[in-house]
Amino acid sequence: MAKVVCVLYDDPVGGYPTSYARDDVPQPKIYPDGQTLPTPQAIDFKPGALLGSVSGELGLRKFLESNGHQLVVTSSKDGEDSVLDRELPDAEIVISQPFWPAYMTAERIARAKKLKLIVTAGIGSDHTDLQAAIENNITVAEVTYCNSNAVAEHVVLSILALVRNFIPSHNIILQGGWNIADAVSRSYDLEAMQVGTVAAGRIGLRVLRLLKPFGVGLHYLDRHRLPRAVEEELDLTYHDNLESLVKISDVVTLNCPLHPETEHMINEKTLNFFKRGSYLVNTARGKLVDRDALVGALESGQLAGYAGDVWFPQPPAKDHPWRTAPHHALTPHISGTSLSAQTRYAAGVREILESYFEKRPIRNEYLVVQGGKLAGVGAHSYSEGDATGGSEEAARFEKA
Ligand code: NDP
Repeated sequence: MAKVVCVLYDDPVGGYPTSYARDDVPQPKIYPDGQTLPTPQAIDFKPGALLGSVSGELGLRKFLESNGHQLVVTSSKDGEDSVLDRELPDAEIVISQPFWPAYMTAERIARAKKLKLIVTAGIGSDHTDLQAAIENNITVAEVTYCNSNAVAEHVVLSILALVRNFIPSHNIILQGGWNIADAVSRSYDLEAMQVGTVAAGRIGLRVLRLLKPFGVGLHYLDRHRLPRAVEEELDLTYHDNLESLVKISDVVTLNCPLHPETEHMINEKTLNFFKRGSYLVNTARGKLVDRDALVGALESGQLAGYAGDVWFPQPPAKDHPWRTAPHHALTPHISGTSLSAQTRYAAGVREILESYFEKRPIRNEYLVVQGGKLAGVGAHSYSEGDATGGSEEAARFEKA
């Protein structure tokens, strides 16, 4: 019997939904690169249900308990006396979502003597100290591709919201006004701008494809170059360093994982390479950006706007300076946890657990760490090391 600890975000303030806005949840048949959607043997949830909050339980309870396992579901993950800390010593599996991450630091991993598997219900396993997982022979897996296209949609939404000054204009209506000049004095067309993505993986490449019809110039930076046919199809300009990419871009979008190589890649020095008045969109990870340098760039006008949905740590304290910075279009971390995406990643977690319990290999494309080294998708996209430093700050959310 395995003990599974699943850390999920809280239910809606008004209670767990009893009905939904839509009756169905259209899904793609296959991902753009030919990868299949998750293939569990069965699911015990209704597609479109809220699965990512505590009462949704990722639809796992029936499956786990009927196979004799114990499931503990909690949102209590930070600070002294968290349920996660209490349950860790005899947990074999820990599951959490990047939206409400269970920070699996080296200290926690050291206390979890029976831990064998850490599953990210989503994409991005930077909330786990990958170095500690490597050294303790713990497998780390994520549900690759489950929400990449969902995030790409949010990137396009965020770019348009910033460039067209949508949110302040909407607020004018909520406030009973009609101040057109106030709204448009920061409003531009995206057409003819230069857009650069840091990373052209699943999300970054999708963003490039979605933006092509807007008549923008498209640029990318990545560790590996895209095939020549893709570069020609989308008329892409490749950059081999950040300075070159941001110097030419009116809009920069970050789409790389957080790992020691990318932590704080946007900082006071690199922000000075940006064109004055450019826009920065970050749906990748909050820690890619230096917190205070960003506020400085928004206040000075070096950046005309910042949008995205990722913070560090999560949840951010109520006095986190990004909340009150000028010209931002930030949301809580939502882009990859639409009801459509939850259906896919809950099924993906179920698939991973079925493989684990039946001692079958976990799909290579889901692996981040296995057998004491980076593996699968992790070996391609991450670097060894730890990016969880400072995550204890998340406990301040409750206290503030
Ligand atoms: P992919 O693995 O498909 O793409 C990641 C890309 O980043 C790869 O092309 C990789 O390059 C590139 N990369 C890695 N390190 C660097 C670097 N130092 N400089 C430039 N490029 C680099 O992942 P996805 O596109 O699906 O997701 C990307 C990230 O987005 C996730 O890791 C996660 O942090 C975030 N995300 C956010 C979500 C949200 O809800 N907001 C949901 C899903 C993901 P290569 O492989 O060529 O080495």
